[in-house]
Amino acid sequence: MPVSLCNDGDREILWSVNVRLNLIWNMAKKPLKHYLFASDFDQTLTFNDTGYVLSELLGISVDEFERKAKGMAKLNLVQQGAELAYLLLHDPEFRDRVRKDHLYEVGKRIRLKENIKQVYEILDRRIEGFHFDFYVLSAAPVEVIKSALEGIVPEDHIFGTEFEYSASGEIETIVRATAGYGKVARLDQLQEQLGMPADHVVYVGDGSSDIHVMLHVNRRDGFTIAVSESKHVAQIAKRTVLSDNALATLVPILEQIAGWQRPRIRQLFESYGFLIQDWDRVQKDWITLRPAGAEVGQAAAADAN
Ligand SMILES: [Mg+2]
Repeated sequence: MPVSLCNDGDREILWSVNVRLNLIWNMAKKPLKHYLFASDFDQTLTFNDTGYVLSELLGISVDEFERKAKGMAKLNLVQQGAELAYLLLHDPEFRDRVRKDHLYEVGKRIRLKENIKQVYEILDRRIEGFHFDFYVLSAAPVEVIKSALEGIVPEDHIFGTEFEYSASGEIETIVRATAGYGKVARLDQLQEQLGMPADHVVYVGDGSSDIHVMLHVNRRDGFTIAVSESKHVAQIAKRTVLSDNALATLVPILEQIAGWQRPRIRQLFESYGFLIQDWDRVQKDWITLRPAGAEVGQAAAADAN
C-alpha cells in the first residue's frame, strides 16, 4: 500500500519554506554595490584641530600657533591644510620639541565626534545591498590620526601626512603631505587599488584643504558631503550636514545612494539608541549685498578718470 509522505497541508508548508529559502538565497547572491567612503579628520571626525592640541601639549601658546598657521596659509607656500606639517619641519619652536610620542599623545587628547565606530560598522555591513570602505585622508600627522582612531578605523585605512625621523627622534623630512591636491592624488591611488568606479566615491570634509578633492569627486560624478558651514566647502559639496554626532553624516548617503526614506533612517538610528530630535533641511543661498550708491559713486569716479 502506497504511503503518502505528506498531506496537502504539509506540501503547502514545504512550498512556502522553499520559496523563502530561494528568496534568501537570491538575496545572498545579489552582488553588493561597493563604494569608497573617504573622510577628512580635523573638524570632520573631531571637534578641534590637531595643531591646537599639539600646541597646548607642548606649552606653545595657541595664539602663537594660530598666528603662524594663518601667516603660512596667507603665503600659499604649501598646500592648504599642510601649514602644521610645514611648521613641524621648519619652525624651531615645533621642530626642536616635537617627537613621535607627542603626536600619539595628541591623538589620545583630541576630542572625537561621537559614534565614529558605529559609522564604520553601518557603512561596512548595515546598509542592505551596499558596502562602503571607510578611509581617512587628512593633512594631520598620520601618528595623530592612527592614535585617535585606534580600535575604530584599521591603520591601513588611514592616510595622513608622513614624516621621516632622525636617529635622535626629530622630524627630518616630510615623505608625503595629504593636504590640498595631495588628497586628490591619494584618493585616485586608492580608487585604482580598490578598482572602484569614480561615481562610487563619497568624500566628507569641512575646510579649505578639502576643496580640490571635493571638486575632483564632483566632476567625476562622485558624492560630496560638507560637515561645516564654511562657505568654501558648503558651496561645493552636494550635501551639507551639521551635527556633533558622526552618525548624521550617514543621512545623505542613506537617502541619496541607498534610497532610504526617513522612517527607515530613524529606525536605524534608534537601533543604535538615538532618536533624531531635530531634522531641519535648509536650502542656503549665500548672498552678499553692498549699497548700490557706493558702486555708482566708484563707477562715476572711474568714468571721470
Ligand atoms: Mg578638516
